[in-house]
Amino acid sequence: MKADYHIHSNFSDDSTEDLDQIALSAIHQNIDEICITEHVDYGVKLDKDEWEKSDKKLEMNADYERFFPAMDTLREKYKEQLTIKTGLEFGMQTITIEPFQKLFNKYPLDFVILSCHQVDNLEFWTGEFQKGRKQDEYQHLYYEEIYKVIQMYKDYSILGHLDLIQRYSDTIEPPLKKHFDIIEAILKQVIHDGKGIEINTSNVRYKLEDLTPAYDILKLYYELGGEVITVGSDAHVAEDVGDRLDISYDVLREIGFRYITTFDKMKPAFHKL
Ligand SMILES: [Zn+2]
Ligand SMILES: [Zn+2]
Repeated sequence: MKADYHIHSNFSDDSTEDLDQIALSAIHQNIDEICITEHVDYGVKLDKDEWEKSDKKLEMNADYERFFPAMDTLREKYKEQLTIKTGLEFGMQTITIEPFQKLFNKYPLDFVILSCHQVDNLEFWTGEFQKGRKQDEYQHLYYEEIYKVIQMYKDYSILGHLDLIQRYSDTIEPPLKKHFDIIEAILKQVIHDGKGIEINTSNVRYKLEDLTPAYDILKLYYELGGEVITVGSDAHVAEDVGDRLDISYDVLREIGFRYITTFDKMKPAFHKL
């Protein structure tokens, strides 16, 4: 089983890729299953109806009214060659839980990635969140935000790129060195709730030496009893679909994992590695 469970198309604000090109790229590489996971970031992006009325300074969330029918069409078109699942990547914050809960209740999803891209509507990728804070402090606040969100919100499948803040930090240090307690608490909560984490293979594209999340976090998750795990390229272009899936499966086997996970209507299915 080869499955890429983190892919963006032009329904995400930061991609211009066509759904068909993504499906064809997956088929070309003999991938068995893909899940499209478009961005939704309440607080810093607007749903289409509000966006159209706005001054358009903010970006737009995935256009749900077009996205779900487009996914049905895509699934039907390639059903002989590829299994295609419908997901979203929720960029959640403690201050935006309510609209995400409404969204989840409204649409039929196979899979939800719970990510943390901002805290207090301050973005990491622009450096706004880190500004005026020491690295230990902003990193701790990042993990604390995730911990708080998963206390309050349970309708998700896996945590996306768990140590994302590494990508936007001043210096690279092993995340468990300074933040072991909070990361362990997050992983224990995830396992307790029957949720999972992912390997996000964009680490090489971002020139990070370690995996995302770091190898030691994957190992800790396994040692704590974690079993639910997906691998996703976080592709925003068709060429990156399926990036480093095989290498990631080898890493998981080496740690001791025996299964990778796929999802159907939010229910996990386990496939031998
Ligand atoms: Zn993300
Ligand atoms: Zn993503």
